[in-house]
Order: sequence, then C-alpha cells, then structure tokens
Amino acid sequence: MGLLPIAKVGNPILRKIAEPVEVNRIQTPAFQEFISDMFDTMVEHNGIGLAAPQVSRSEQVVVMECQGDNGFPRTVLINPKIIFYGPQQTEMWEGCLSIDGLQGQVTRPSMVRVQAFDQEGIVQDWEAQGLYAVCIQHEIDHLLGKLFIDRMTDMSTLTQLQEFETYWQTEPATII
Ligand code: ZN
Repeated sequence: MGLLPIAKVGNPILRKIAEPVEVNRIQTPAFQEFISDMFDTMVEHNGIGLAAPQVSRSEQVVVMECQGDNGFPRTVLINPKIIFYGPQQTEMWEGCLSIDGLQGQVTRPSMVRVQAFDQEGIVQDWEAQGLYAVCIQHEIDHLLGKLFIDRMTDMSTLTQLQEFETYWQTEPATII
C-alpha cells in the first residue's frame, strides 16, 4: 500500500492543466502502481474520487469509487473527455480532499457521456448519472486546474464541516 501526499488549495499544481498520458505507458508496472497508490490514498482519506494533480502529478489520471446504494463502481479515467452534457441540472454539496473542512453547493449537469482510457488502456465510452456524473465533472475539473469553489454560483453556501453538520446536513458529507 502506498500513500501519496495530497496537494492542498494554494499549491500551484492544482491550477495547472494536466498533461495527457502516453497510452503505451498505461500498462507499465510503474503506472499501474501509481493507480493503485491513488486508490489507496483516496480510501485512506475517505474520498470517492482523486485526480493526479491532487497528488502532485500533473497528468490526466483520475480514480473514483463510491460504495453503497447511491454509489458507483471502481473507475479509472485516463485522458478523459466529456462529449455530452445532459439538459437537466442537479445541485449537490461538494467537498474536496484538497480543501480541508469546506463544503459548498454546486450546480452541474446531472448526466454526462464520457470517453476515457481505462486501467488496461482500452477506450471506454459511457453515460453516468447523479453522483457519478457529478464526481466525474469534479475530477475532470481538477485536470483543467479548476476547483469546486470556482463552480459555486452562490458563495453563501460555503460551509465549514462542523457548521455543515449543524445547519445544513441532510445526508453524509461527500468528499470528492
Ligand atoms: Zn477535489
């Protein structure tokens, strides 16, 4: 198990556009180990998604998994592209492993169609809904140097974790 240090807001690497991965590197042991370390790091911090810039590698790699009824399967996105946004919007509370203790409401399309290479280097093309779609957008934003606070339309919902639990919480906080 390999845990990687997490870059926090203010670290310039979070504001860079990440480089695409050379597809012939995906199958190498070093790259596979990096993906495994990213999953270990995400789980260790109770996250449901982690993008490579958050562990100080400016590359287009994302790992995601959320167990439970409203969750989604283990997913690796390499060089992802959103090729369609659904017409409906959804408003969800978001947090981020790179922004300690803050939550905020973000409105995003509730469905996306995404194309990405998977962990085996095979192109996948699928649609995601709800929390899965929101998490994909949050993580791809990391590859573009964007954070959820940039996507908030109403900054008055920016909330520290304890205040979130006191005043706002209707369901467990989601840390992406
Ligand atoms: Zn994040």
